[in-house]
Amino acid sequence: MNNRLYGNLIFELSQEGRRGYSLPKNRFGNYELPASMRRAEDALLPECDEMTVVRHYTNLSANNFGVDNGFYPLGSCTMKYNPKINEEMAALPQFSGLHPLQPTETTRGAEAICTLLCKSLCELTGLHAFTLKPFAGAHGELTGLMVIKKYHESRGDESRRLVIVPDSAHGTNPASAAVCGLEIVEVKSLPDGTVDVEALKTLLAEYGAQVAAMMMTNPNTLGLFERQIPVIQKMVHEVGGLMYYDGANLNPMLGAARPGDMGFDVMHINLHKTFSTPHGGGGPGAGPVGVRKGLETFFPHVSPYHGNFAVAIRAYAYILSLGRENVKLVGPLATLNANYIKECLKDVYELPVDGLCKHEFVFDGLKDKSIGVTTMDVAKRLLDYGYHAPTIYFPLLFHESLMIEPTENESKETIDGFIQVMRQIADEAKTNPELVKSAPHNTPIGRVDDVLAAKHPITTYRQLLADQAQ
Ligand SMILES: *Cc1c(COP(=O)(O)O)cnc(C)c1O
Repeated sequence: MNNRLYGNLIFELSQEGRRGYSLPKNRFGNYELPASMRRAEDALLPECDEMTVVRHYTNLSANNFGVDNGFYPLGSCTMKYNPKINEEMAALPQFSGLHPLQPTETTRGAEAICTLLCKSLCELTGLHAFTLKPFAGAHGELTGLMVIKKYHESRGDESRRLVIVPDSAHGTNPASAAVCGLEIVEVKSLPDGTVDVEALKTLLAEYGAQVAAMMMTNPNTLGLFERQIPVIQKMVHEVGGLMYYDGANLNPMLGAARPGDMGFDVMHINLHKTFSTPHGGGGPGAGPVGVRKGLETFFPHVSPYHGNFAVAIRAYAYILSLGRENVKLVGPLATLNANYIKECLKDVYELPVDGLCKHEFVFDGLKDKSIGVTTMDVAKRLLDYGYHAPTIYFPLLFHESLMIEPTENESKETIDGFIQVMRQIADEAKTNPELVKSAPHNTPIGRVDDVLAAKHPITTYRQLLADQAQ
C-alpha cells in the first residue's frame, strides 16, 4: 500500500487546471443559464487527473475493514459472512434487469421469491404472515407498531397509546414508538439484564388499559435468554396489550426456538444481520415484519413495491443454501462460539453476569481495574492486531461494556487467534500499559480525539480551510 497517499484528501491532491476528462467538441452552440439559476461563485471541486483519482479511492478502499478482511465480533449487530452465492443470485440479469412497473405477468418469478422468503420466515418464526416492505430494522419496528396501533383502533380501543420498553432495549425501540405517535413507559431490568417481572406487574396494574404493546428483545442485550417470557406474555395479553419481538438479531434462535411459539404477536427481522445480507456501509438492509394470524390485514404501505428486493433474493439464497437441516445449526453454533470465547477469557476480563449466554455476551472491561486501561484502549489495541473491535460502551448497564459476538461462521482457529490476542492485550495492559493506552499504532490514523470530533465535526474541505486559517 502506498503510505504517502494516506491522510491526503482528494482536495489536497488537486492541481489547478488538471483534468480527468475531456468533453466532446461542442456542436450545438452555447446556452446561458439564467443568472438566478447560477452559482454566485464556482463550486469548490478538486482538479485531478484520472489516475490520481483511481489511486486515491483504491487506496482508501484498501483501508476499509469488513467481514471479507477479517474477524468482526461486533456485539448486537451480527456481522456474519455474506456468502458470495447470494451476490451471484442477486446479480442474475433476470432479477437485476427487472423494473417494478413491468406488467405483473412478466414478474412472476420475482414475486415467487418474495412469497417463498415470507413462507420460510413464517416457518422459522412461527408467525402467520410477513411483509418485506420495511427497509431496515428500525423501519420494521415502526411498521410493526403501526400494525399494533391499527389493530387497537379497529376494535375502537383508541386509548391504548403506551408501549412498554425494557430499559436495556436497543435505542431504536423507544424511538420507533415515539415516531409512531405512541408513548413509552420504561420497565426496569434485573441486574442480569432480564425484565423485572415484579416491576412489570406494577406497571400493568397502573396502566393496563392504556397499554398498546410491550417490546422485547430475546435473547436480551446481554445475550441472555428471557426465561420469564411465558409469564410476561400472559400478563401483557391479559390486560389487552400485544407482544412485539425485536428480532433484529435472530441468530441464536434459528433452529432453536420461535417467537410465535413464545406468544409474540408482531416482530421484525433484520435480513442484514441474521440472514447474511450485507450490513452497514455494504447495505442496504431490510427489516421484514411478521404477524400472528388476523393481523396481516393491518400491514401499512411503508415503501413502494416489495421493499429492497435484491436483499430478499440474497436472504432467500442463504436460506436455500443452508437447507432445512443446517439452518437448525446456526443458533446452536453461534451460541457455542460465544460461550467458548467467554469461558476462555473470563479469568482476565470482568464477566459481570456469569452463566450460559446465547450468541453474544458482555465483559465489563479488564478484570484488573487498578491499571487504568479501559475498554476503549483494549478496542483500539485490537485494531493493531487486525481485528475489528467488539461493540464498546453498550449496553449502558456497565461502565466498561465490551460486547462480543462471534457468529457461527468463524473457524476454531480464527476464534483461538482472537482469544490469544485478547489475552495478550490483557498482558500488555499489565506490563506496558502505555502501549495499550496509546493504541492503535499500526493503522493509517492513530488515536483520534472522539470528543473533539463529536463537538466540532469538520465535514467539508471549506470548513477545514477556514479552521486552518484561524
Ligand atoms: C440493529 C438493531 C436494530 C435496528 O436495526 P437497523 O437495521 O439498524 O435499523 C434494532 N434492534 C436491535 C436489537 C438491533 O440489534
